[in-house]
Amino acid sequence: MIKFLDLKAINGQYQSEIEEQLLKVFRSGWYILGDELRSFQNNLSAFTGVKHAVGVANGLDALRLIFKAYIQSGVMQEADEVIVPANTFIASVLAISDNRLTPVFVEPDIETYNIDISKIEEKISSRTKAILLVHLYGRVVFSDELTALAKKYNLKIIEDNAQAIGAVWQGTKTGALGDVAAFSFYPGKNLGALGDAGAITTHDEQLASRVQAIANYGSSEKYIHDVMGVNSRLDEIQAAVLNVKMKYLDSENDKRRIVAGFYINEIRNKKIILPQMPQNMDEHVWHLFVVRCEHRNDLQAYLEKNGIQTLIHYPVPPHLQKAYPGYNHLQLGITEKIHREVLSLPISSVLKIEEMQKIVDVINTY
Ligand SMILES: *Cc1c(COP(=O)(O)O)cnc(C)c1O
Repeated sequence: MIKFLDLKAINGQYQSEIEEQLLKVFRSGWYILGDELRSFQNNLSAFTGVKHAVGVANGLDALRLIFKAYIQSGVMQEADEVIVPANTFIASVLAISDNRLTPVFVEPDIETYNIDISKIEEKISSRTKAILLVHLYGRVVFSDELTALAKKYNLKIIEDNAQAIGAVWQGTKTGALGDVAAFSFYPGKNLGALGDAGAITTHDEQLASRVQAIANYGSSEKYIHDVMGVNSRLDEIQAAVLNVKMKYLDSENDKRRIVAGFYINEIRNKKIILPQMPQNMDEHVWHLFVVRCEHRNDLQAYLEKNGIQTLIHYPVPPHLQKAYPGYNHLQLGITEKIHREVLSLPISSVLKIEEMQKIVDVINTY
C-alpha cells in the first residue's frame, strides 16, 4: 500500500539529529520557555522575514490568540465581522467564532481553490474588521487589489499560514504578507513537530508581546497578570525538533514541487481535473496535491483497490457542519462543489519515483 503520508519515513530522514536534540532537552532539566523556544522563534522570524515570532501550543491557538489580542487592544469587539474563505479547514472559522466574532464566508476561485479576492468587497460591512486569508493546500493567495481593499476599509489582514510555510509572493514569504500570521506545526504539516505546535509571526511588536502574554496566563512578568490569559505554550521538546527540521524545510518543499510537477505532466485522464501550476513555482509549497473528479468516491475506491491511499480535504465545508447550525442554510455553490469533488493524492518528500509512477499509471487507467 502506498501510504497517503509516511510520517515515520519523513522524520526518519533526520532521526539521529532529532534524537540527539531530544536527549539534550531531556538532560537539560528545562522543558518550558527556554533556549530551544527562543532559538526557534528567531529561526522562524528570520525564515519568514518578520521582526517577531511567538511559539504557541498549536495552529488553532495561534489564530485564536491573534483575535484575542486584537480584542484586548480594542481593534475588534464582540460581533465584529471577519471575512473568511468558505473553503477552508474548520480551524480558521473556529478561531473567529470562539472569540464571539462573526465569520463572513466568501466563495473560492475554482481554479486556485483560494478565496476569490474579487468577491470580498461586496461582503464588507461597517462591522468588518479583518480578512482572514488561508493559503489553502500550500498556495499563496495575495494581490495588490487585496492590500488596497484592506487600506480602503481599514481592515487587518491575517494569514492562516498553517499549510503554506515557505511559499513566496513577489519576494515576500507567506507569514509576512499581512499584519499577522498563524502557523501550525501539526505533524502532517510541511514543517511538522512530533506533536502539536504552532506560532504567530508579525512586524508589530505590541501585538507580538500581547500574544506572548496571553499564551502564558496573561503574564509578561511572573505571577503578575495584566490580562486574562490562557496556557498555550510551545514546549522545548517540540521547539528542538522544529529547530532541526527547519533547516531542511526548503528542500522538503522543493521535493514536493517535484512530485507535483510529475503528476501534472504525467496524469492524463479526462475524468480528472488537475490543480493549476502557478506561474511562479515558489508561490506553491504543495502541502496537498488535490485533484477533482465528478465521481470522487468511486475514484478513491479504485485507487484504494490498487494499493494507493488517498484522503479528502475536506468532505464537508464549515458552513454545513453540525457545529454551525446557524450557517447550514447558506448556499455556497462553488465551495460545495469543491467539497464533493476533491481528492488528495499522496505527496511528500519521501515518495519514491516508482510510487509516483504507479500512482500516475493507476489514475491514467481509471
Ligand atoms: C492545520 C490547520 C490549522 C490548525 O492547526 P492545528 O495545529 O491543527 O491546530 C488551521 N488552519 C488550517 C488551514 C490548517 O490546515
